[in-house]
Amino acid sequence: MYLIKTNFSPLSKRHLEGLQHLIFPNLCLQCSHELSRFEQHVCAFCWDKLQRTYFESYESESGMDQLFWGRIELSGTFALYFFEKEKPIQDILHALKYQFKAPLGRHFGELMGKTIFNSDKYKSIEALIPVPIHPQKRFLRGYNQSELLAEGIANILDLPVLLDVVHKKANNASQTRKNRFLRWDNASEQFSLGKTHIPFRHIAIVDDVITTGSTLEAMAKLLRLRYPDLQISLLSFAIAK
Ligand SMILES: [Zn+2]
Repeated sequence: MYLIKTNFSPLSKRHLEGLQHLIFPNLCLQCSHELSRFEQHVCAFCWDKLQRTYFESYESESGMDQLFWGRIELSGTFALYFFEKEKPIQDILHALKYQFKAPLGRHFGELMGKTIFNSDKYKSIEALIPVPIHPQKRFLRGYNQSELLAEGIANILDLPVLLDVVHKKANNASQTRKNRFLRWDNASEQFSLGKTHIPFRHIAIVDDVITTGSTLEAMAKLLRLRYPDLQISLLSFAIAK
């Protein structure tokens, strides 16, 4: 057997990281500028352009609470950012949903968890239920973005994420084209209850973005059918302004 000696020294971890950075530069998903070592996914400049809700520190009802008045009784509501079309938040949500960016979802979830960590309003939440997507959609997309957000929140708040409580029945691409009232009927047909029993008094439904709230309303109402005394809160990454 012949041993071939080479003059190549083994590449250090730092060299490899530098090489990887050259081939796959770490870019801001909003403005495509290169990120510094201290930034993740979105650069500081673009983060600054996002509009925080500060709902976690509201003592009176927020606009998010008011959205559900007369529709479903909720214990607490929270959204990290306001959603507006044609603004950076739209690109960020799009990346979260369609660009196979699983670490991004967990990172945003952790931001949500850190934001509500010290707020008494959410202290009694015992478990998280992400808004489910249809298994076929989940397979094609590779993940459910709400589940990733829930995992991120769970990392910070040390809560279980329940995946077999509510299931999505079927794809409904036409839903966004209908108005709010038509959509409610449609949404109430969207979910079914899974086999897992909830042994908790207070759960939070986790969503990526809330517009009319009809999906969450339908999901919460379905949960109340089986668990009439269950306290339900809503945690969303963004809410339409
Ligand atoms: Zn940027």
